[in-house]
Amino acid sequence: MSEAIKTDVLIIGAGPCGLFAVFELGLLDIKAHLVDILDKIGGQCAELYPEKPIYDIPGIPFVTGQGLTEALMQQIKPFGATFHLNEMVETIEKIGDPGFRVKTDAGQVFECKVVVISAGGGSFQPKRPPVPGIEAYEGSSVFYAVRKMEQFRDKNILIVGGGDSALDWTLNLQPIAKRVTLLHRRDDFRAAPHSVEQMRGLVASGKMDLKIGQVTGLEGDGGVLSAATVKGNELPFFGLTMKLGPVANWGIALENNLVPVETSAFETNVSGIFAIGDINTYPGKLKLILCGFHEGALMAQKAHRYVYPDKRLVFQYTTSSSSLQKKLGVN
Ligand SMILES: Cc1cc2nc3c(=O)[nH]c(=O)nc-3n(C[C@H](O)[C@H](O)[C@H](O)COP(=O)(O)OP(=O)(O)OC[C@H]3O[C@@H](n4cnc5c(N)ncnc54)[C@H](O)[C@@H]3O)c2cc1C
Repeated sequence: MSEAIKTDVLIIGAGPCGLFAVFELGLLDIKAHLVDILDKIGGQCAELYPEKPIYDIPGIPFVTGQGLTEALMQQIKPFGATFHLNEMVETIEKIGDPGFRVKTDAGQVFECKVVVISAGGGSFQPKRPPVPGIEAYEGSSVFYAVRKMEQFRDKNILIVGGGDSALDWTLNLQPIAKRVTLLHRRDDFRAAPHSVEQMRGLVASGKMDLKIGQVTGLEGDGGVLSAATVKGNELPFFGLTMKLGPVANWGIALENNLVPVETSAFETNVSGIFAIGDINTYPGKLKLILCGFHEGALMAQKAHRYVYPDKRLVFQYTTSSSSLQKKLGVN
C-alpha cells in the first residue's frame, strides 16, 4: 500500500460538480485531490454525451459536454488540483473530528479534513444484455456509449432500448447513419413524448425502422459483427446504466440510493462529509449541473471552517478582490 497523501479535501468524482468544487475551494485556499473511476475527467458530460449541446449553463448559451469539461479544467487550472483516474474510492474511515482516511481500489490512501462526494449516479456500467458471446464484440461492433458520432457514419445501427438515451441517440445518429433501427421489447416508450413523436415521424416517412423484440444472438468474426438475430445485420447499441457502488458502505445515511443533505452547506449526516451534484437529495432537488455548482459554492464556505478553524472567512467578489485575483493568477 502506498504512503498516505495528505490533503485538505478529497473529492470523490471528477464530473462537472466535482470540478467546480475545486474552484470554489481554491478561492478559499483549500487544496483538493480528486479520484475518479473513469480514465477521463468530466463525469456524465464526457462519458455519456461529449458531443451533445447543453443549453442551460448560466451565461453560456451553448456548450457541448466535452466543451464544458474543458472550460472547467481551464477555470480550475490556477488551483493545481491532483487527479487520480482509473481508481475507485472503496472505503472512508473517520480518524479525526473531522478527519478521514480514504482508500481506493488501487491501494492509494488519502488523509483529509473534508470529503466531498460528487459521485453522480455512481459508476457507469454497460447494460450488457444476456446474449451469449457479446463480450467479443464490445468496443468494435457492440457499444454502450456514443463517444464519437463520426464512428457511426454510414453504418447500419441497431439501437436497443426504449428510454431517453435510446431515443436520443436514435434521433442524433439517424441523419448520419446508413440506416438506424430502433429495437424495443414493446411498442411503448419511457422516453420524453416529444422524442417518441419525432422517432415515429421518421418511421412513418421511411427514414428509419422500428422493431419490437429482443436481441437473442450475435454472429460475426474477430469482434466484427455481421448479424444480430433480430433479422438484419445492424450494429447493436445498448447503453449504460449507473451503479451506486461502494457509496453504500461509507457509513453515511442513504435514501433511495442518494445521499440526503441539509441545504445550508450540503453536508451529510457525518460532519465533514459533504455531497454535491446528482448524488445528493433534499426537498426540491434538481439534477442539473447549475444546481451542483451552487451546492459546491456553499459547501466550500463550511469546509473552510474545518480546514482553517481559527481563521475568519471574509466574503469577497472575484471582480473586486485583489487577493482572489492573485490566487487566480490574473493580478
Ligand atoms: C444525455 C444527458 C444529457 C444531459 N443534459 C443536461 C443538460 O442539458 N443540463 C444539465 O444541467 N444537466 C444535464 N444532464 C445531467 C448532468 O450531466 C448531470 O447533472 C451532471 O453530470 C452531474 O454531475 P456530477 O458531477 O454530480 O456527477 P457525474 O457527472 O455523474 O460524475 C460523477 C463521477 O463520479 C465518479 N464516481 C462515482 N463513484 C465513484 C467512486 N466510488 N470512486 C471514484 N469515482 C466515482 C464517476 O465515475 C463519475 O465520473 C444530462 C445528462 C445526460 C445523461
